[in-house]
Amino acid sequence: MSTRFLLAGTAAARGMTLGRARLVQPSQLVVDERPLGENEIESEVERLRHALQVARDELRVLREKLHGALAREVGEFIDAHSMILDDPELTSGLYSMIRQGRFRAGAALKAQRDRLVAAFDAIDDPYLRSRREDVDHVIGRVQAVLARDTTPAERQIASRVGSILISDTVAPAELAHLSDYGVLGVITTGGSPLSHSAILARSMRLPMVVGAHEALKRITDDDLLLLDGTLGEIVVHPAAQDLVRYRQYQREQARSAEALSRLKHERTLTRDGIEIHLFANAEMLADIAQARACGAVGIGLYRTEFLFMQRRELPDEEEQFIAYRDLVLAMAGAPVTIRTLDLGADKTDSTGLALAQEPNPALGVRGVRLALRRPILFATQLRAILRASSFGPVRILVPMVTSNEEIAVVRALTEECARELRSSGHEIADHFELGAMIEVPAAAIALPFLLRQLDFIAIGTNDLTQYTLAVDRNNDELGALYDPLHPAVLKLLAQIISTAERAKKSVTLCGEMAGDTRYTALLLALGLTGFSMHPSSLLEVRQAIAGCDRSALRKQATALLRAQTRAGIEKVLERMRST
Ligand code: PEP
Ligand code: MG
Repeated sequence: MSTRFLLAGTAAARGMTLGRARLVQPSQLVVDERPLGENEIESEVERLRHALQVARDELRVLREKLHGALAREVGEFIDAHSMILDDPELTSGLYSMIRQGRFRAGAALKAQRDRLVAAFDAIDDPYLRSRREDVDHVIGRVQAVLARDTTPAERQIASRVGSILISDTVAPAELAHLSDYGVLGVITTGGSPLSHSAILARSMRLPMVVGAHEALKRITDDDLLLLDGTLGEIVVHPAAQDLVRYRQYQREQARSAEALSRLKHERTLTRDGIEIHLFANAEMLADIAQARACGAVGIGLYRTEFLFMQRRELPDEEEQFIAYRDLVLAMAGAPVTIRTLDLGADKTDSTGLALAQEPNPALGVRGVRLALRRPILFATQLRAILRASSFGPVRILVPMVTSNEEIAVVRALTEECARELRSSGHEIADHFELGAMIEVPAAAIALPFLLRQLDFIAIGTNDLTQYTLAVDRNNDELGALYDPLHPAVLKLLAQIISTAERAKKSVTLCGEMAGDTRYTALLLALGLTGFSMHPSSLLEVRQAIAGCDRSALRKQATALLRAQTRAGIEKVLERMRST
């Protein structure tokens, strides 16, 4: 009997699943390093040509099979990968390695991959870093075709059904493909819960743990695993008590799915009858469908930067307009908050828009700072958003704001775009609402001044926590220090909410905290009435709110804000949970 052990990682997409391990190590494939004999060269060239063609065909089929909302978002990643496969620099290098260097196809691919990755690693450029991962995935795909020369493709796919995939990284396109073939969960040794793949896994409800550094070393193919994407834990060779826990989880899931589905079209009311507004965060159209199905009152945050990622050309005004218009139409009259481009820091694009090198990117040219340095690009986006506003209520949200001057420039530019659009005969709404993300301590502290120019605000606790505590949100070494319950963060939150309330400006909170029921009572205690979250959390938060007495919680806010330590805060929270 194999011995049970635990591996820890970071929770990236919720849910528990049981399955057999399937290891994928594209960068560590064992390849045949023996040099080719003279008479083997041409057949090896042919073998590589065939593998490249099969990989291309697979991507094409995969692209065609995508349907609905995934087609656009994931399609772009697949196109990027197809382009790499067609890149003559990659392929001609491979052929000459076989012909002149006597490499076997697999060894040539590995050498080419290592060479490219070393070159990318040497240049500290975020654009190239994102391409490095793409190259890795593309080469992994061709390697896989070569490796299955002797294995029927069906057998490979069948062996993935019911499995939990373990890899160093997983590309978004692979994720879509894998769930089609019945992969139940994903573990990566690197990565962060804020990666695009993690966001996609959450949208697809595929449990995922990232940063499980030991996984590839300590797990072997076919090991039975219990993956807990909620706790960020992997049980290898689960024992009887784990299986009991899993069955209990399944029963609870079934019960809560039933209870939650009854809440789909309910209003969100606290136990004492106060209405709370639940909005959805969205990155892709699938999120919109889910938001509607769960009765979100609108979109509180649409992250437009995803339109700019994983592609070489910038989206023009027309393409952006169509994306925003479709979003507005899909929400059928409910308000849609479109956030202007928030590239920079960890959100790098592939168009070369974000600055290539900055000494301190999280404190660098990010969000509105980048937009104001590229006024033509920014105006293109504003025009597209304004044009979409004739199809339903649209609010414009600006990220990474720190000063009144920035807001004044954005407002002037938006008004100028509106004037131009009207005079060239475009239909746009008579009035637009302009809001700011409050995610930098400076904006929180200067809020009374900023609010004079703003129609609404959205609190970005993901960044507000990072910048208040000086803890990089993507650095898994500092995970424990990244604490939204730090007294300084709570004080700022309380201050932001009460300042906006006094100024009679609408405020929502759209960071990850909003969708986490551990914080629901706390946020209600601080006076929050607008929450925006990934739609998959919406019903649970509605249910948690229904169990809370808001006026009793409000009375505990002072005790919460007086607590000087984490333990003190936990104690007040404990009391709140039983309120
Ligand atoms: C935030 O910072 O809380 C936020 C919602 O924005 P993002 O996670 O896109 O930076
Ligand atoms: Mg942010």
